[in-house]
Amino acid sequence: MDCIFCKIAKHEIPKEFSYEDEFVMAFPDINPIAKVHILVMPKKHTNDFLMINDEGLMDKLVGVVQKLITDNKLEDKGYRVVINGGGAQIIDHVHFHLIGPLGKKVSME
Ligand code: 5GP
Ligand code: ZN
Repeated sequence: MDCIFCKIAKHEIPKEFSYEDEFVMAFPDINPIAKVHILVMPKKHTNDFLMINDEGLMDKLVGVVQKLITDNKLEDKGYRVVINGGGAQIIDHVHFHLIGPLGKKVSME
């Protein structure tokens, strides 16, 4: 399967990870829309949010998103956690976007 995030998971493409363990990885978005824009996802290919059926995996993903919020000191600076799905996504390997700091508007400042 030709999936860019699977290639990153297998270390076929060099990538500086913000977080990595056996099941979950996180790395900065190549085209950030705010100072912190990190993608958090399962290493195992999962096409769409609706296909996540492993509660343990979901718990791990949420835990990593929470850790990255505090690692990046976003807890009181404003953040957004987003999953695009159902065709709204560009890449069909499910991922959370963690975006911040932000108030009501996303900004690079
Ligand atoms: P989606 O629309 O699927 O939720 O978002 C895909 C995101 O992946 C986009 O924000 C895009 O900038 C990012 N992206 C696409 N290709 C790469 C890549 O090769 N490396 C990284 N770090 N991000 C990527
Ligand atoms: Zn994949």
